[in-house]
This record gives sequence, C-alpha cells and structure tokens, in this order.
Amino acid sequence: MITVKIIVSNPFQENTIVLSDQTKECIIIDAGGYTPQENKALSDYIESNGLKPVMAVNTHGHVDHMLGVNYVKERYGIPFAIDGRDAFLIESAPTHGAIYGFKVDSVPTIDIDLQGKKEVRFGDTAMEIIETPGHTPGHICLYNKDEKLLITGDTLFRESIGRTDLPGGDYSWIMRSILDKLMPLGGDVHFYPGHGQDSTIGHEALYNPFVTEVLGGEVNY
Ligand SMILES: [Zn+2]
Repeated sequence: MITVKIIVSNPFQENTIVLSDQTKECIIIDAGGYTPQENKALSDYIESNGLKPVMAVNTHGHVDHMLGVNYVKERYGIPFAIDGRDAFLIESAPTHGAIYGFKVDSVPTIDIDLQGKKEVRFGDTAMEIIETPGHTPGHICLYNKDEKLLITGDTLFRESIGRTDLPGGDYSWIMRSILDKLMPLGGDVHFYPGHGQDSTIGHEALYNPFVTEVLGGEVNY
C-alpha cells in the first residue's frame, strides 16, 4: 500500500511528494523546499514516520522542482535520479532561478540517468516510468498499476496542462504525451500533479479544456 504525502513548497506552490510503503522505504519526488522551514517540514514528516528515503527522483528539471534536492541528498545520503534529457535544466538552475528570484547556490549532481529505464523502486513497490515529453524534453511520469496511482509532474494538472513556452517545451509533444500515454491508463487512475490539487484521469477526460478541445476536434495537435 503506497502512502502519498504532499508538502507544498516555495513561492511556486510546488508539490514535493513523498511516496512510501509498508516497508517504510520512501522516495522523495521533486524536492522543492526553498526555505529552512520547508525543508524541515519534509524531514519532520520523514523522521516522525520512521521513513527511510532511498532516492530523490525528479519528474523534470525545472528550478521550482529541484530547490530542495541538495538538502535531501545531503541529509539522507541518497542518489538523485532524473531523465538525462533534462540535465541542461538542472545545470542552468542558478540562471533560471535568478530570473524568478530564487538564489540557487549549488546544483545537485545527477547520480542516476532515468532515460531508457523502466521503473524506480522503493521497498516492495515499483513505479513505472512513463516518458511524457512536452513540458520539458526529459519529463517523466511515475505510475503504479496495482494502485492506479500516477504522479504527473507538470505534464497534467487538474483541469490544465503544463506550460510549453519554456526552453525545450512543445505543445504537440505534451498533448501526445497526455492523450497517447496518460488518458489510456483509465478513468479511475488517481493522479497527483506538480502543482495544485489531485484529480483522476476520468475527471480530466470530462473537464480539462486542453483535453476536451482536442478530443472534440476543435484543435489539432
Ligand atoms: Zn515545470
């Protein structure tokens, strides 16, 4: 049984997500803690529940999703995993951060390149890697079929989608990722995005305007 914990972090209201199972092992997805208080909220949750982090995993390389990665790497001695096609975003985080008013002192080293990998594991749990380029070239989602649980990063939000006007973004790609890879997972799949509220694929099929305008033939992608 997977337990999901969201810690909303930094001025972009980014969802830092902890997934754990009955073994108490966990992964930390998109560690976005910027202030000491945000990082403490994350480690308080982990430590008060007796969790053992085994990996920091990112859905993509944007600065608001990686501000706390060095903190968790150092505190727990865990590797950092991301699709290597987003390495350019991690490397340019100090520059991108400055544009948005974030001070990024040090860039985390990428320890595991997830490009071409099938899954990430913790405890008794495997999360399948689904490549969903579009918001960024190396964006991935993480999916557990048994529990119909999906982590969508900035690909799919409740009633919205991720921006495609940033470097490496592409509207056709993100729509193909959503329509060809995420929607077919099924209406009862529950997902947690990188910003905002959780939702289901079924809800998005009916109420996400970016999805319905394509399904209704109003827009080509
Ligand atoms: Zn993003």
